Amino acid sequence: MTDIVTAQKRSEMMSGIRGKNTRPELQVRKALFSMGYRFRLHRKDLPGRPDIVMPGRRIAILVHGCFWHGHQDCRYAKTPSTRTEFWAAKLKSNRQRDQRDIDALHAAGWRTLVVWECYLRSPLHADLATALRDWIEGDQQVSDFREPTTEKKASATAKRTSNTKTSSQ
Ligand SMILES: [Zn+2]
Repeated sequence: MTDIVTAQKRSEMMSGIRGKNTRPELQVRKALFSMGYRFRLHRKDLPGRPDIVMPGRRIAILVHGCFWHGHQDCRYAKTPSTRTEFWAAKLKSNRQRDQRDIDALHAAGWRTLVVWECYLRSPLHADLATALRDWIEGDQQVSDFREPTTEKKASATAKRTSNTKTSSQ
């Protein structure tokens, strides 16, 4: 069977799956550090090798790229229009693996937070540090930070309106 993705391109794409020290991950680490939290990275002995771990608090923070982790109802996680079946299966299996990891962490008494790339790319990320602190100091077992899906259109319109206003001044 012919593979239309070149070997080089594929290896670039595959490297994104388990990417370490990605920009979104660094954003989260920086925000935690700025508030005085200390953490460990990529603990191999835990399910899914969580990106950020605070062992004393039994907290695992996973920073997920929306495409590779098959973020549902997310504008950054569209299945590619070529080789659709391959990608759909691949992304589904990534999503299932993530869910298994989170379930396993939860079962072992860890609180888990997924910080999605779309959250970090949205204006919401201005509150990243506060949002992280609130979650860390709270008692939610499993949670995630994502760009809201329902307000997407409204905020896009609002942004356009404010841009128009700015440019006419
Ligand atoms: Zn997303």
